[in-house]
Amino acid sequence: MSDVEVPESHPRYEQLLTRHRIEDGVEQGITSPQGLIAEGRGEAFDYLLGERTTESADRAERAAAAHLLLADHPVISVNGNVAALCPEAVIELAEVVGADLEVNIFNRTDERVHAIADHLRDHGAGEVKGETADARIPGLDSERAKVDADGIYDADVVLVPLEDGDRAEALGAMGKTEIVIDLNPLSRSPRMAAVPIVDNIMRAVPNIIDHARDLRDAPREELERIVAEFDREAALADAERAIREGGSAGESMLDGE
Ligand code: ATP
Ligand code: MG
Repeated sequence: MSDVEVPESHPRYEQLLTRHRIEDGVEQGITSPQGLIAEGRGEAFDYLLGERTTESADRAERAAAAHLLLADHPVISVNGNVAALCPEAVIELAEVVGADLEVNIFNRTDERVHAIADHLRDHGAGEVKGETADARIPGLDSERAKVDADGIYDADVVLVPLEDGDRAEALGAMGKTEIVIDLNPLSRSPRMAAVPIVDNIMRAVPNIIDHARDLRDAPREELERIVAEFDREAALADAERAIREGGSAGESMLDGE
């Protein structure tokens, strides 16, 4: 889709590819201009993390897979950045764990909701929720409160990649188990989450899929043990330390645990 050629040998190939996907998303009307700013912030944090999945983030991704497999009704929330960056991966994750996909965006317009839903269907998604918007999350202003009654409103576990802090808080207040993917460990969204995943969504979602495949046939007790042993405070502290101390220092710190 992108008309910009990035040679694979470029040292920052992955990051440039990611950036072009967001640009394309804006051009196609699925990503809002605000999404460009979110992308820039994410890139800065990813650079400081060393553009890798830390061991601590990997543990969070395994806990996320266990939560999604244990859930009665898991839902994966998809916004304009997620749809532009990794449509295939979120569709595959939904299939592997039996989750619904729901379009849920910060700057909501019906036009953009339909464009994102169409984009997911073009990439092979079956049912995509979010276009009905017949329920409201309590405590949020009207546009940002809209969800589907048989989607996020009914979910027990929600994966909200790159969610904004207010909505993360409101979903938590509804008693939902929230899994947040966000490269900034100081942002309110991951701090509200039962499972904060401080990693790039481009690496996080494929890794959650791998863990989910690995755990799919595991006994319920093992999944419950993984969930119980996960320490959200430690995950946030590990991520902050890795960022403050620089990529390689953070890694040796984690290795030495
Ligand atoms: P709040 O504290 O209310 O959450 P905020 O300042 O974090 O506000 P957001 O709109 O949540 O504002 O910012 C977008 C977030 O998404 C940033 O924290 C950024 O690091 C993160 N982000 C952007 N791109 C990615 C990505 N590819 N993978 C993971 N996280 C990303
Ligand atoms: Mg945030």
